[in-house]
Amino acid sequence: MSSITANLQQTLADLPKGVRLVAVSKYYPNEAIREAYESGQRIFGESRVQEMCTKYETLPKDIEWHFIGHLQTNKIKQIVPYVTLIHGIDSYKLLSEIDSQAVKAGRVVNVLLQLYIAQEETKFGFSQDECREMLAAGEWEKLTGIRICGMMGMASYTDCKKQIEREFCFLKKFFDEVKETYFATQSSFQELSMGMSHDYLIAIETGSTLVRVGSKIFGERT
Ligand SMILES: *Cc1c(COP(=O)(O)O)cnc(C)c1O
Repeated sequence: MSSITANLQQTLADLPKGVRLVAVSKYYPNEAIREAYESGQRIFGESRVQEMCTKYETLPKDIEWHFIGHLQTNKIKQIVPYVTLIHGIDSYKLLSEIDSQAVKAGRVVNVLLQLYIAQEETKFGFSQDECREMLAAGEWEKLTGIRICGMMGMASYTDCKKQIEREFCFLKKFFDEVKETYFATQSSFQELSMGMSHDYLIAIETGSTLVRVGSKIFGERT
């Protein structure tokens, strides 16, 4: 058994029922994706628009493509026709621009609100207050081209398990608050995207429903 298949199966064995794997294939070639695909994996995550579009065009059409990177507004149009889930919504502007492209394309695009939970300044996302403000303003409720399906976050890159746990718990708590306040009757608001190769086990313990794992499956990116 080749290592991608073995790594994939090992990762899947760690996931309890209700937690799905996004195999993060950014920077890896089609052959690597094909191998995971042949082992049964169907959800792949990419962080660059051009790369995802090329892969979408050249790989099997039953793959679900998740966009997990920072999305520039001028590139939304390219992914709207086929993307399954956009994880990183960090402003109302981005949300409304996805909405208008989606309406034009006759689609409803599933999205997650990204929360900034790490101590590093390099990461994107709403602060809790910004997110509360955006939701309270209510403009988003008029958008018919998007469906908010939950939240996403990235913990600090650290070996300190306690800190990672704290950050994921913070996000889970906020997810529950937002669900109760705005989405109590919407079963589609149910995804909590957290956990990467080095911290997905902690993420699962703290309530993740979607883990985004790349290097553990495909090897170190070059
Ligand atoms: C690259 C990336 C991942 C996967 O990271 P690994 O450490 O390779 O598992 C997960 N989430 C986001 C947002 C990423 O950019």
